[in-house]
Amino acid sequence: MREDYEFQKQTSRHPDKHEWVKLVERIRHNLTGEIREYFTTGIFKEESQSVFIWPYEEGNATCDCNLSEHWKFAGDIEKELFAGTPMPPCGHALYAVNLYSTKGKLLHEGFKEEALSAKHFEKGA
Ligand SMILES: [Zn+2]
Repeated sequence: MREDYEFQKQTSRHPDKHEWVKLVERIRHNLTGEIREYFTTGIFKEESQSVFIWPYEEGNATCDCNLSEHWKFAGDIEKELFAGTPMPPCGHALYAVNLYSTKGKLLHEGFKEEALSAKHFEKGA
């Protein structure tokens, strides 16, 4: 339902047939348990009134190599992004992701965590 999402204003000059919504990846580092939040966007599917979450189920956002980039962006950019830390090998061991809309709707559950209040999501995006 549309009320579960915050829509992203169209910023591109190129016409886009999709509507985009604001999302939050809560990424857990499986070795340390640390969780970081990475703000991103996703495609809203009008027909089903839902978000295209394939990337989190089977696509790029399931892989440690891609998630390590999101992890760095969600942390101290200066320290981590430009530190030249090597990308981890492809796999599904290092990170787990819970994907939420910025209004707090859980869209993909990669690990168990206590429900977050709607207020939790007000700060970001
Ligand atoms: Zn990979």
